[in-house]
Amino acid sequence: MSSPAVEVFELVKSYGSHRAVDDISFSVERGQLLALLGTNGAGKTTTIEICEGFRTADSGVVRVLGQHPATASLRPRVGVMLQDGVGGYTGAKAREMLALFAAYAADPLPVDELLAVVGLSDAADRPVKRLSGGQQQRLSLAMALVGRPELLFLDEPTTGMDPQARRTTWELIRRLRGDGVGIVLTTHYLDEAEGLADDVVVLHAGQIVAHGSPAELTHADSAGKIRFSAR
Ligand code: ATP
Repeated sequence: MSSPAVEVFELVKSYGSHRAVDDISFSVERGQLLALLGTNGAGKTTTIEICEGFRTADSGVVRVLGQHPATASLRPRVGVMLQDGVGGYTGAKAREMLALFAAYAADPLPVDELLAVVGLSDAADRPVKRLSGGQQQRLSLAMALVGRPELLFLDEPTTGMDPQARRTTWELIRRLRGDGVGIVLTTHYLDEAEGLADDVVVLHAGQIVAHGSPAELTHADSAGKIRFSAR
């Protein structure tokens, strides 16, 4: 039997005396989407960046496709969309950025196909710094997809997007999930978590305050059982 896409067990991370992630556990199967939902400072980015292998935990266990997150051989199998993921490359054109990432992938998706998938064909020859925030987000998503990943980490993928781009991005995320990609996504938006996720982990001040399917959480929320709601 194949291992889950991601397993997180009793994760703890502090910055100085501030405990940003406090005993978090969850797991995600392949072909499923887990949303980490919470407001600013809830611990979403810290959690996802530990899973991505960019930060180390103080304690707890994280397994990504059955391996330690920093395992080098995982890189081609995992797509990562960072917050402000294209900020460092603003002079390059969108197409050039993707071509650069494609050059490192063993079996890259064609750049023009990716541009079309994220709705950036018309902006392909524009410098990244001339793209809107939402377009930069979509480029960042395309960069995460270039190597045909089995697992995707998406940190606030639709922040800054207009409603139309948001809907298109949601459709794309649903399609990827349907194709069997495991996805962990962070979001501030309750409707995004409800609309996309199989499983929602609600974080507040580094702790899990609710965990369940969107239907279960809606039920618990309306019964007043969740201390925090992103609505
Ligand atoms: P946001 O939605 O604003 O990105 P978040 O839920 O992703 O918030 P984190 O970025 O994980 O939350 O931050 C959790 C807490 O840890 C916050 O109080 C934040 O100020 C703090 N924090 C995050 N990174 C660092 C760091 N490098 N050094 C010190 N404190 C940090």
